[in-house]
Formats: sequence, C-alpha cells, structure tokens
Amino acid sequence: MNLFNKIQDIFLLYLLQLGAIRSLKSLQKDTINAVSVQQKLIKNILKLQKDTEYGKRYNFAALTVAEFQTIHPLTTYENYREVIEDIANTGNFSQLVAEPIILFQETSGTTGKSKLIPRTKSLQSTLQKPFQAVNAIARSYYLKGRAYATDSRGLALANAQPLKSTPSGIPKGTGTSGGIRQSKSFQKIVSLNFSSPVGIFLIPDYKTAYYCHILFALLEPKLSYITANFASNVLEALQILEREWPQLLNDIYQGELNPNLSLDIATRKELQSRLKPSPEKSNTLRTEFEKGFSGIIPRIWPQLSYIQCITSGSLQLYKESLKFYAGEIPIYSSNYGASEAWIGCNLEPQLDSTAYVMTPHTAFFEFIHISQIDADQPTTVNLASLNVGESYEVVVTTVAGLYRYRMGDIVKCVGYYNQSPMIEFSDRQGSLLNISGVKVSESEIFAAITEAIKIFGDDCKIIDYTTSIDVSSFPLRYIVYLEVSKRFETIPDLILFRDKFEQVIYDLNVRYLNTREANIIGAPEIKLVERDSFKMLKNQIVSQGISETQFKMPRLLKNAEQVNFIESKYIN
Ligand code: AMP
Repeated sequence: MNLFNKIQDIFLLYLLQLGAIRSLKSLQKDTINAVSVQQKLIKNILKLQKDTEYGKRYNFAALTVAEFQTIHPLTTYENYREVIEDIANTGNFSQLVAEPIILFQETSGTTGKSKLIPRTKSLQSTLQKPFQAVNAIARSYYLKGRAYATDSRGLALANAQPLKSTPSGIPKGTGTSGGIRQSKSFQKIVSLNFSSPVGIFLIPDYKTAYYCHILFALLEPKLSYITANFASNVLEALQILEREWPQLLNDIYQGELNPNLSLDIATRKELQSRLKPSPEKSNTLRTEFEKGFSGIIPRIWPQLSYIQCITSGSLQLYKESLKFYAGEIPIYSSNYGASEAWIGCNLEPQLDSTAYVMTPHTAFFEFIHISQIDADQPTTVNLASLNVGESYEVVVTTVAGLYRYRMGDIVKCVGYYNQSPMIEFSDRQGSLLNISGVKVSESEIFAAITEAIKIFGDDCKIIDYTTSIDVSSFPLRYIVYLEVSKRFETIPDLILFRDKFEQVIYDLNVRYLNTREANIIGAPEIKLVERDSFKMLKNQIVSQGISETQFKMPRLLKNAEQVNFIESKYIN
C-alpha cells in the first residue's frame, strides 16, 4: 500500500469511527427520551402507512396511538402469510407497505415454518444506528488507541448465499445475505476492516467460506478481533481450524490455495493472487498448533482483543466451548435483533453481561406479561412500564408492515438504562415444552442440564442438546437428547442424571412438580447420542437452504424427520 492510500484509509477509518461514535451518542440520547421517541415513531408509522390497503382498513389516518393499541389486534406471522405471499407473487406491495420491498428476509424457521419478512429502505435505515453504535463501543472499549490503525483488522465470519427472487422479482434471502449483496459500500468496508478479501464473503458454502476466512486471518499478523453473528458460528470456524490446520499450513507454506475447495474460477483467482509462499509463517504456526488447541487464539493472534458474537439464551452453551480456544479473551455479546426489527444493544461491555438496552427508534415496542402469554389478545404494557425482575413476550410494530406482532421471544427486564429497559433474552415461545398446558422453558432445561452434567465429572462438557415430546408414552413425557464431550467405556447411570435434572426443574417450576407428582407427565428420558450427532443434524437443516450464520439449534424438535434422525443416534 502506498503512502497516499494509507493516509486515505486512516482518514476513512477515522471518519467511520467518528460516525459510529455519533450513532452511539444518538442512541444514548434516544434512551433518555425513550418514551417520546417511541410515540413519535408510532405516529410516523401510522402516517407512513395510512394510504396502504392495510392502513385504510384500520383507518390509520384517524387513529391516535392509544386507539391503535385498542383497535388493532395483536398478530402473528399467520396474519400476514397470505398478503405476503400475494405481494411476493404480484409485486403489489402497497397492500401492506408504502415503500417497495427491497428484500424478503427468509427467517431460519427454527421454531416453526420459515417466514418472509419484508425489508424496506426505512427498515434498513433503522439498523444503521445500533449497528454502528455497537461497533463504536467494541472499538473504543477493546481496541482503544488501535481503533484507527489500518493494520487492526478483524476476522468477520459471514458469508452470503446468492439471493433468490420471488415470482414478481423481489429479491429473497437471509438478512445477512441481503446485507452483504445489496450494500454499495460493502467492498470498501471489507477492505478497511477485515482480514478477508471481499470474494470470501460471497462464497455460498459456509464451510468453504470459513476455511478461506481462517486462511487469510492466519496471514494477518495483527488480527485484532473476531466478529460473527452467534457464538456457534465462531465455534464452528475454530473447529474447522482444529481439523484442517495441516492443510491450511500447507496452503500458507506453498502459497497455493487448497485445490480441493469448491470455488468458482474468479474467486479462486482473486484469492490465489493474494497468496505467496510463507514457509516461516507456516512453521511458526505449526509450533503453536502442535502444542494443542487449548488457548490457541491468543497464541496465534497475540494482538486479538475481543470476540464479538451473541452468547445469550441457549447460545450461552457455546460460550464455554469457545473459552477453551479463547482463554481469557473477552467475548462481547453485542446485540439482540431479528429479521423483523433490531431490538437491543449491549451498551455496557465492562459488565460482562448479556443485558441489552432496548433501542427505542427501531420499532414500537409493547410487552405481554409472562403470566398472560397464552391468551389470544392479552393486554400489553409499553416500554417504560416494565417491572424489573419480570418476564415478558416482545411485541413489535415495525416500519415495514408488521403491526402489534408477537415475536415469540421471552425476555426478562433486568433494569433501566435511562428510560429504556435493559433486557435479558430468556426463551423462545416455540421452544417451550408443553404437556397438558404445563410448560418447561428453554432456559429451565438448559439450567437443569448444566447442573446435572456435573454428575459425569468436571471433565465432561455439554456439546449440544435438544428435546422432544414422546407422544407414544402414557402419560406423555419429555425426551432430552444430549451429546457430551466425554467418551464413556460403559454408558453411565442416566437415572441419577435424570433425577438431578428434574430436581432443578422442580425448583424452578412448581407447576411441573405438581403435574409430575400427579403423574400427569411421565418421568423424562435422557438419551445420550453419538459424537457429532448435532453437527450432522445441523448439516441436515442447513442443507435445506438455511444460512449457517443464522442457524440456531432447535431446542424442541417438532419435525418428524429431525426427531427420527436424532433418535437414530441414540446410544443404548
Ligand atoms: P432471525 O430473524 O432468523 O435472524 O432470528 C431472530 C431470532 O434469533 C430472535 O427472534 C431470537 O429468538 C434469536 N436471537 C437474536 N438475537 C439474540 C440474542 N442476543 N440472544 C438470544 N437469541 C437471539
């Protein structure tokens, strides 16, 4: 890089960081005025959409906010499925939204049928501020003075699948794929910030993309951070590194890209042009890999300051495994959001928590108290009226055509940041085990497994788990499928495990205890599954077109094919 280009890049980085800090300040200001920001937002939404067929049906033009909340029912995706399918087929977006739909975001469908969530320019612009704000925090808190250095690049684990198109020609794909493929500034952002050449982000197969991301990160002497959507994405990449390091080192030694990677000619050419033989680098790395993978990250990237990825909800499971590789490197769980809307940002990394401050400008938020989530049309409270310590389902009205829409996410209010609630993610409604109306949540199951696993000894870790309801038993019961790190000579006593597991659930959930005592629910069965079962399950789900960067392991299997698959891996 010549001096002029270097100065230009420093200047650009400085401007980007300045813009990011401005976004952070603006977001903090929004939290001070959260109530009025919310009121203004909902008024703007009603005004923006008043001339759509949907807006006319509900007479948005004449409604006050309070009337809107009384007249308009709470909805789920099923209320929109038909109109969205019609827009996808005909292109007639004004049935629902005033602006063209720039992308139908395909959701991961982890807890039910996949959905198509409309993205408009207005929705897209709500994402800018929180996205930049968390980057400003990460850079200033973890990178400090290195935030503007042109050699402080990060490894970004993302890849975009090609966008599909609806019959009327509207692009369709995951939010991440749309974000990468539809962004005009993506190329410049990549070259300034990340260790990977832009072509890697466009490789559709995530395993190939991750291999290439890692290869170029290994060549980055001052790699400063790793960023990905979920902790599971980072873990997946590190497992690829652990498995494939001899080949990666060979690529580095020879300066030749692995010939077995399935890449199109142009991408291979682009990547190959950036490689040159580096025997010395390869040998130095080999010494580290040969010592083992515990704490490998700080050994191969001594300047790496943080890992940014979501570790809340059941994703916390992967944090433990990540720490094996990361040692003491901090993990920043920066955001909580969905295709429907951005919901919150972690503004306090120094607390090492996963509490998210709700972003008042991204959607109009309402909340259903946990005690009422089974009702069809329960009452809601607004964002400033949450009780600290209590749990709620999140409801959003978005700028892109979803009105009083039940997200199905359960969050706990853990405090307030100015007028904005700070929330922790607890569960997804679709993952609640429910027998005879008695529910056991994702977080209760996770707490119970975490406790019960101790029976197998300190060296035994949970690799992954899921559950299903055994409908062939009487009374009905839960099955927990569990993959653990330890290899047993003989299958251990799972009754002991089950008793401990249930004890934790009894303590957390008195209704479960009562129904178990009344024998309305049978004793759960714990089934250990073979090594790599969950990897295979994931591959099976991802191969059906779900993006890896958005993939979340289903914690309650409802699909018969998936149940049969995991059942076939049961070690009995
Ligand atoms: P998708 O629309 O496919 O990107 O999935 C969005 C869903 O991912 C949310 O509704 C949550 O259930 C889950 N999710 C997103 N952010 C977080 C987070 N920080 N912690 C736990 N789960 C999350």
